[in-house]
Amino acid sequence: MLKTIAVRRSQGTQYIADLRGAVPAGFRGKPLIADTACADSCQACLSICPSHAIELAPLRIDLGRCVLCGDCEPACPSGKLSFSNDVKLASTRREGLVVTAARAHIDPVQVSAALHQRFGRSLKLRSVSAGGCNGCEMELNATGNVNFDLGRYGIDIVASPRHADGLVLTGPITRNMAQALDICWDAIPEPKLVIAMGACAISGGVFADSDALDRSFLEKVTPSLYLPGCPTHPLTFISGILDLLGIAG
Ligand code: SF4
Ligand code: SF4
Repeated sequence: MLKTIAVRRSQGTQYIADLRGAVPAGFRGKPLIADTACADSCQACLSICPSHAIELAPLRIDLGRCVLCGDCEPACPSGKLSFSNDVKLASTRREGLVVTAARAHIDPVQVSAALHQRFGRSLKLRSVSAGGCNGCEMELNATGNVNFDLGRYGIDIVASPRHADGLVLTGPITRNMAQALDICWDAIPEPKLVIAMGACAISGGVFADSDALDRSFLEKVTPSLYLPGCPTHPLTFISGILDLLGIAG
């Protein structure tokens, strides 16, 4: 018995007490663009980017498309690109996800007084994987594990849309999932919100040009929160949603 207790003690605790202050070592997060000139006629980063997240003159990275593969950093002969381990990548505006040398920061999440009043103490979310690879879905599951314990803020994933206050959308929205997504959305009672999780949900990601997609849902419904990543890190999800709801923690 004492031996078992000693082993358990040696394992320490995995619980992250300060989720807002947590900085994961080795995480590839917000891109940093140096304010230096590109090599003449260079298009190395543009050519290597798998998700068409880069535009040139001036260089800009759209985090709504970027899959954070990191390939552009070594490809750049001028050392203009690097990545910080900043997990705070969320924005309430789609356009707010674009970074340049002059505009180094993603638009901060705008706290919603209305959402704070309605959902600040309890928010139940239904997840819809609309053709996702299961990467974002696994990270969404992780938000509820013993490390992150998002439930401490009254935020949980629920099984039925009838019990939900909102929908977490993952995946690029394949045509085969478009109707199921509409049905799930219609089944959630008002007031309700959508959170777009991952590059696929935000822009289609690497599948954006596929004719197997039907993204008409996003023409009808504007997400309240955009959470970049491929997949989105649990801390990106948690910090974004706490900011949106104005929850201190
Ligand atoms: S890190 Fe983002 S911007 Fe750079 S190549 Fe990968 S997807 Fe493109
Ligand atoms: S954003 Fe990346 S991880 Fe998330 S569903 Fe798409 S491919 Fe998978």
